[in-house]
Amino acid sequence: MQRKFIVGNWKMNGALSSNESLLKEVVGGLAQISTVDCAVCVPFPYLAQAQALLRGTSVGVGAQDVHQTNKGAYTGEVSASMLHDFGCTHVIVGHSERRNLYGESSQLVAEKFLAAQQSGLTPILCVGETLEQREAGTTEAVIAEQLAAVIKLCGPESLRTAVIAYEPVWAIGTGKTASPEQAQNVHSFIRKSVAGSDQEFGRALRILYGGSVNASNAAELFAMPDINGGLIGGASLVAKDFLAICGAGQK
Ligand code: PEP
Repeated sequence: MQRKFIVGNWKMNGALSSNESLLKEVVGGLAQISTVDCAVCVPFPYLAQAQALLRGTSVGVGAQDVHQTNKGAYTGEVSASMLHDFGCTHVIVGHSERRNLYGESSQLVAEKFLAAQQSGLTPILCVGETLEQREAGTTEAVIAEQLAAVIKLCGPESLRTAVIAYEPVWAIGTGKTASPEQAQNVHSFIRKSVAGSDQEFGRALRILYGGSVNASNAAELFAMPDINGGLIGGASLVAKDFLAICGAGQK
């Protein structure tokens, strides 16, 4: 069984002093949890701080968004090569907050995915349905469309080195978690859609679950065969909660 991958998404939270204590506590706690992989996706201004504090530790640094082109007249934007310069290994693309609040289409998300890979970053591609879509029975169709845009632009092989995060929109920051069975069903659908009958690819593909994961529900979610870790929002801001989630991912 592959190691679980636990990724914190700080969103627009943090401050220099609290980041330092949070990261130091996480690194200290992870010394007892050696069988999970871990990264934190921090706001752009804190990348340098995170890079400095996490250098030489087992915790990777990631960002939460990236521009689809590599340089130019795009005021306010940040490119994949800049993220790479700051030691990022990962970048989230297509988070539902960006799709919904900033109108990011699946095509744009695919372009960001491509830019990330071209600069040597691992994209964490977020997919997921709204409550309305789930209730209308279109969950799989919605996710298939989100995956198809990436496959069309970047090719199916591109997903071999990426991470996919299934994040039902109705579970993000709401305190409502998908049941382990609901999440497992969608993860299994994603794995089959992406890897088809390529068993080696299927086994290696990392699919994280995100949506109100906390210290009490992490273990049962991570026990599902197609859940390879978690993308953690709110709970990643509290060291003891994040560490408890990491602990739940131990083999
Ligand atoms: C997220 O933003 O990716 C997320 C999963 O948030 P939360 O854990 O707070 O629901």
